[in-house]
Amino acid sequence: MFPVKAYAALTPTSALVPFDFERRDLKEHDILLDIQYSGVCHSDLHQARDEWGGSIYPMVPGHEIVGRIAEVGKHVKKFKVGDTAGVGVMVDSCRVCKPCTDLTEQYCVEGMTGTYNGLERDKVTKAQGGYSTRIVTDERYVYNISDKLYLPGVAPLLCAGITTYSPLRYANVKPGDKVAVAGLGGLGHMAVKFAVSLGAEVTMLSTSKAKEADAKKLGAHHFVLSTDQAQMKKQESQFNVVVDCVSGNHDYAPYLKLLAVNGKLLVVGLPSEEPKLDPFQLVTNRRSIIGSMIGGSKETQEMLDYCAEKNIVADVEVIPMQYINEAYERMLKSDVKYRFVIDMASLK
Ligand code: NAP
Ligand code: ZN
Ligand code: ZN
Repeated sequence: MFPVKAYAALTPTSALVPFDFERRDLKEHDILLDIQYSGVCHSDLHQARDEWGGSIYPMVPGHEIVGRIAEVGKHVKKFKVGDTAGVGVMVDSCRVCKPCTDLTEQYCVEGMTGTYNGLERDKVTKAQGGYSTRIVTDERYVYNISDKLYLPGVAPLLCAGITTYSPLRYANVKPGDKVAVAGLGGLGHMAVKFAVSLGAEVTMLSTSKAKEADAKKLGAHHFVLSTDQAQMKKQESQFNVVVDCVSGNHDYAPYLKLLAVNGKLLVVGLPSEEPKLDPFQLVTNRRSIIGSMIGGSKETQEMLDYCAEKNIVADVEVIPMQYINEAYERMLKSDVKYRFVIDMASLK
């Protein structure tokens, strides 16, 4: 067993606190990762505060994990000690169903095993996440990371990155397409970077006027204040794709209206309340709504290699572990630039 230092939520309403526990021993295909950086996703906050229901405590959140391989099981092929590697939102799946054999394991028919807030497939070991000093994971769900990239900026690629890359690729976004991104947070800023890199003309839809200059720096060509009805009206029926990266409760109608004929609303934001849906907004322009959950093992590695080739990383604010509760409060105020990343050296 490996002793680990971490921060955990003990109840839905209390602040995260220091928490020591032990990771299990390595099995033949497992690696032990010394965690260097761990990103802070809004899904961590949703789950720590039980906003989706069914949360299990104590909970060590964190699923944007990068670090160095410290030990390998005897049948590990992809990694050796000292390699830089990453772990994302998923640490296991059934491995035999169609989605698993297609390497889209996030859609495993039995349900994927999350990095935290659940049990591993032995139904006994508690899965605990990346706000911790070390993690033990099967190499199938661990990714190679290029040493060319700024490591703190790589951590968010493991969730915010793949979650926005995957639907943009699925929707076949290409040069000349008009793409709008709603919500300039962790996911939204990666969606802007990827859509721009794919050659799209990108519009940021934000509730925060103060983010306009940053949106442009990230590569967005246009900025629309989504709370301004007149500005939104001018954008109606303009876009091939709108990516909904919004964490707070909201309706789809204002974003659906922006879609041109055959336009697609790519939903990745996961607020706790169900949105209202008006079928008239769907039949108009033959619009569709497509949900998307992270990405599978193959596409996650592809995205990381794409980022290494194009020199894409997240814009991050590196924080010590002890700042996590303030970081959550700032995230709730949409005050994120554009991902908090925990330096795990602060716990060692
Ligand atoms: P985040 O960094 O907190 O950013 C969310 C942004 O949404 C805010 O900065 C704000 O941007 C905007 N926003 C917040 N409340 C709003 C509201 N009521 N109406 C309109 N805009 C609002 O969050 P994140 O980490 O990017 O995560 C975003 C969502 O994606 C979360 O719900 C998370 O759970 C979900 N998620 C899904 C997946 C998946 O696999 N599908 C993976 C990861 C995360 P502006 O200031 O620009 O308005
Ligand atoms: Zn996430
Ligand atoms: Zn499966």
